[in-house]
Amino acid sequence: MDHLPIFINIRKKPCIVIGGGDIALRKINLLLKAQAKVDCISPLFCKDIKNLSMDGHITLINKSFEQADIKDYSIIIAATDDKSVNSLISSIAQDKKIPVNVVDSPELSSFIMPSIVDRSPLIIAVSSSGKAPVLARIIRAKLETIIPSAYGILADIAGEYRQKVKDRFSTIKDRRAFWEAVFSGVIAEKVFSGRINEAKEDIQRQLDDSVEMDLGEVYLVGAGPGDPDLLTFKALRLIQQADVVLYDRLVSKGVMELVRRDSELIYVGKKGGSDKSTKQVDINDQLVELAKTGKRVCRLKGGDPFIFGRGGEEIESLSEHGIPFQVVPGITAASGCSSYAGIPLTHRDYSQSCRFVTAHLKNGTTNLPWEEFIIDQQTIVFYMALSGAKYICEKLMEHGMDKDMPIAIIEKGTMPEQKVYISSLIELPALLEREDIHAPTLMIVGEVVKLNEKLNWYGN
Ligand code: SAH
Repeated sequence: MDHLPIFINIRKKPCIVIGGGDIALRKINLLLKAQAKVDCISPLFCKDIKNLSMDGHITLINKSFEQADIKDYSIIIAATDDKSVNSLISSIAQDKKIPVNVVDSPELSSFIMPSIVDRSPLIIAVSSSGKAPVLARIIRAKLETIIPSAYGILADIAGEYRQKVKDRFSTIKDRRAFWEAVFSGVIAEKVFSGRINEAKEDIQRQLDDSVEMDLGEVYLVGAGPGDPDLLTFKALRLIQQADVVLYDRLVSKGVMELVRRDSELIYVGKKGGSDKSTKQVDINDQLVELAKTGKRVCRLKGGDPFIFGRGGEEIESLSEHGIPFQVVPGITAASGCSSYAGIPLTHRDYSQSCRFVTAHLKNGTTNLPWEEFIIDQQTIVFYMALSGAKYICEKLMEHGMDKDMPIAIIEKGTMPEQKVYISSLIELPALLEREDIHAPTLMIVGEVVKLNEKLNWYGN
């Protein structure tokens, strides 16, 4: 190791930044976050630094740097663009044994500043020992994405209970087991979903009764339309910590590959070639039973669970049984497919509103409000439209829609196999005869479909 990583307490300690530009500003803000008393010396200051001083946060010393300016500071940061001044500051500081950082010059610095992920009080620092700051920043950005912003709150709560936990459990081993259960279980999830008081009550209850938390939790997670990069950070985190994952046909292979390797996978979609899915009530019951055994259960659904996903029914039954749950939205097929097909769902010239419609024809009939679909400047997105596509075209024309109204059929949207077919109301039936199109497919009807010609960017 070239450097010893340490965290210094500079609260209320005098620190100085020499320089008055943007880089100096960044360093000042960092020192202020750590609650230091900051002086800043420069013949010129940028606007934001002046504002900080007007707000009373820092003291400005408006002059060129001189040797005598280095007094009894806890930390010195040189952020001038004059090399000779920077090296002068470095040598004076090192003579006086005051820690000094010269921006972008590890050779002149007695300490270097890492890239940080700030989830105060939790701080993660990444350093490349001054050799590759950009790499450290990239790693930092990766960490930012996988560490929920509420980790800081979790750490604060842990701080509150630290002594109580020490009093309750005499061995380090027991304390560690306690905290591990808190940080990776239902309690942490409660904090992440904003249920702070409930989380605290749970901790207190465990300390009082030393009862095992036997209730698990269910995560109803939207897996998006297929491309695993379209998952939310939250979805990714939850599918990687679930003990059991119930999934169906719409969840793509790419997403399934991100599920925790040792979790139990339960397929609840259509079986083999048959059209029979696991019955909805059976899925509801299964979720309840699994959660009751203390498992973290992820119900993974294609797209968004609350859009034609029966997500509502599943959590209704959880709520009736008092099982904790959370819902993670996903990118719905309409958003994913339209983006990847270069078809904006609204556009100032063509469409001011958009309707999502299920074309699933219950008992072979449909009661769709056809008249409402005919109005101008509207995009209609039909989900589950493949088998009823011909019928939909006929009905729309019968109610007065222009026979040349453009239609897009998007097959396996957002996936490498995506195919986009552009047609019109009158021509679509022939296209469907001609082509071998497979589910899942989404149908978009409206003038916006024309934009595909110019805006198509993915695959193809
Ligand atoms: N909850 C899902 C929709 C479930 S209904 C969501 O929000 O997206 C199932 C229908 O969604 C399919 O019949 C199809 O019309 C559409 N769909 C889902 N994923 C799709 C994809 N990758 N490409 C095209 N259509 C898709």
